[in-house]
Parts: sequence; structure tokens; C-alpha cells
Amino acid sequence: MAKRDYYEVLGVSKSASDDEIKKAYRKLSKKYHPDINKEPDAEEKFKEVSEAYEVLSDSQKRAAYDQYGHASTDPNFGAGGFGGGFDGFSGGGFGGFEDIFESFFGGGGRSANPNAPRQGSDLQYTLDLTFEEAIFGAEKEVKFNREDSCDTCHGSGAKPGTQPETCSKCHGSGIINVERQTPLGRVMSRQTCDVCGGSGKVIPDKCETCHGSGRVKKRHSVLVNVPQGVEDGQQMRLAGQGEAGFNGGPYGDLYVVFHVEDSNIFDRDGATIYYDLPISFVQAALGDEVEVPTVHGKVQLRIPAGTQTATTFRLRGKGAPKLRGTGNGDQQVTVRVITPKNLNDKQKQALKDFAEASGGQQVQEQEEGFFDKFKDAFSGKDKKKK
Ligand SMILES: [Zn+2]
Ligand SMILES: [Zn+2]
Repeated sequence: MAKRDYYEVLGVSKSASDDEIKKAYRKLSKKYHPDINKEPDAEEKFKEVSEAYEVLSDSQKRAAYDQYGHASTDPNFGAGGFGGGFDGFSGGGFGGFEDIFESFFGGGGRSANPNAPRQGSDLQYTLDLTFEEAIFGAEKEVKFNREDSCDTCHGSGAKPGTQPETCSKCHGSGIINVERQTPLGRVMSRQTCDVCGGSGKVIPDKCETCHGSGRVKKRHSVLVNVPQGVEDGQQMRLAGQGEAGFNGGPYGDLYVVFHVEDSNIFDRDGATIYYDLPISFVQAALGDEVEVPTVHGKVQLRIPAGTQTATTFRLRGKGAPKLRGTGNGDQQVTVRVITPKNLNDKQKQALKDFAEASGGQQVQEQEEGFFDKFKDAFSGKDKKKK
């Protein structure tokens, strides 16, 4: 339902003094008070009166209402949520007939007051980070072009000393009603005003810097504090670092999307860092103490004798910082046992001696055990299958 004009609700003129407004409110709130008035619509009227008084008794709210109508009391007013909040404004002043048209043509945005403040566009910036910067955080300066408010005319688009004027064709609404004759009779339709292009304003003397748009493209730089522990694809919102708003509305936001470079040494998933450690089969068999790189510096790792390939060791607290919560994740070190290649004669002999000393049994026994299980699984001998 369309809202009634607040001055009309209180029955006062637009130039009414604070005193007059107060008197009118006292009279009407008494008249419609639900405890006194038992009419079915009394409560509704009482609320309407209270709402009107709340706005008109506050000089700031009243000034905003005078300029922007009911849009000024919208909770999104000025704040302009994500996406500009344009659709959130109800133009005010429209009633009955036009409301019906709107529901037919789904014209949400068209009814918005073209002169109501609107938030500027949000921008997105992809920020490249090294593997280490993402882990330890960084301070980065980003530079980009954005639509900024024109300094010469302070965003009005009018030459300094002149003012934009209300469009005489649409009287500032940006919309004109057009009547057409059709076989079914006369039909009213609403169109964007052809004189002002829907802005509701015309600028007789345009600002020379911005040619009347009130906005200019400018190089803008922002310092971004990248928190430690961010990951590839994550984003950060910097409020007010987007593009300039319209009609004095706030700036949009800047979304910084992190693009994290891969490391030649490590893999990372969240706070966990993965590292593949190549060791010789001698180290694997006899055990050894080796140096392992981590993002926090080198760490000594003891490889126990008889370590198999693909065994994973955990280095606690040597991973990336946890984004939510405290402390670091772990580094997982996975051992890769390297089979030697291009052996010289002496090495070959040593291995043959080793095989002889093992009686050719050790590996074979293990292998048989492995293949027996394998065969059982496929021949249906596995007990679980019965
Ligand atoms: Zn117009
Ligand atoms: Zn300008």
C-alpha cells in the first residue's frame, strides 16, 4: 500500500513550524489512541500519525524526507546494501492506479526516485600473492581506475556557480505517462522521460571537467593488509573503496580476491602444508636423521630404520597459520624411497651380496603374502563376501 505524505497525515503545511507539528500530533494521537478510539482503523491511523511525527519532529529526518520523500526512511537509505540498494527505494507519492500498473509490468526499479542517493558500483581486484605472502600476511598497495566524484563540481555535474534544474517535462520524477489508443481502448503506459533520460534533472551549464556526469575516471590506490593464512580464491571486502555513489550516495565496495602462487617445494590445503621427502633405500632401511624444509625454516626429522615409501610424518605447528582460531597447522612429510639407477659395478656387487645375505627370501615372502590376499579378494574367498 502506498504511504501517505507525512504532512498530509498530520494535516499541516510543508512549511509548518516545529510547534505546529507538535500540536497537530498531540491532537491526532489523542483522537486515534486505541484506548480511546474504538473505530476498527484507529490503531492503523495512530501508527501512521506516530510515524509521521517521528520523522517531522526530527530536523535531520525532516530535511531528508523533504528532499527524498519516503525513500529517506528506508532502512537501506544511504547505506545502500550490496548491489546498490536501488530497488529498495519506494518512490513515494504513487497510489492506486500506478501501483496496479507496476504489478503488471514488474517495474520495481522504474518507480525509484531518480534523485535518491544510490551507492556506487562494487569493484573487484585480483591480488597476486606469493606462497609465503599468503601464509605470513603482507601489506600490498593496489592501484586501479575507478569512477570518482568530480572535484570541480563536487558531483553535481553543473558548472561551478550554477545548479542542475528539475526537469520541466517529468517534474523531476524521470518518468512520463503516455496515453495510447488501442483496439481495447485507451491505455496508459509509463516511460522514461525523453528530456532528462530518467534522471529528473537537466543541467543547463555543464561542468567542463566531467561534461555533466559528476564523475571522472581516476587512478585510485589502496593499502591492503593481507591477513596471514589466506588461501587462493578467498576474498576480502574493503568498504567504500569502490566507485563513487550517485546523488550523494556512498561509495561502493572493493572486493580483493587473492590469487596465490604455487610453491615449487610445498603443497598446501588450508593450514596443512605437504612436503615430499626423497630418501635413498639405504636411509629407509638403516634409518637416518635428515633436514626438512618448512615455511618456518629447516627442521631435523628422524627417519626410523625400516621406513616404507609413502610413510607420512607429522611436523606439528610447522604448517600455515589457521585463519579462524589460533596457532599453526602441521606439515605432513611423505617419504619417497628412491630406487637407485645407473649403478656402477661395485654398487651392483654390493647389492648382489645383499641379496645373497638375505637368502633371496625377504621380499619374496612379503610379496607372496600380498598376492595371496589379492587372489582371495577376487576368488570370493574373502569371508566378508559370504
Ligand atoms: Zn524529465
Ligand atoms: Zn564535474
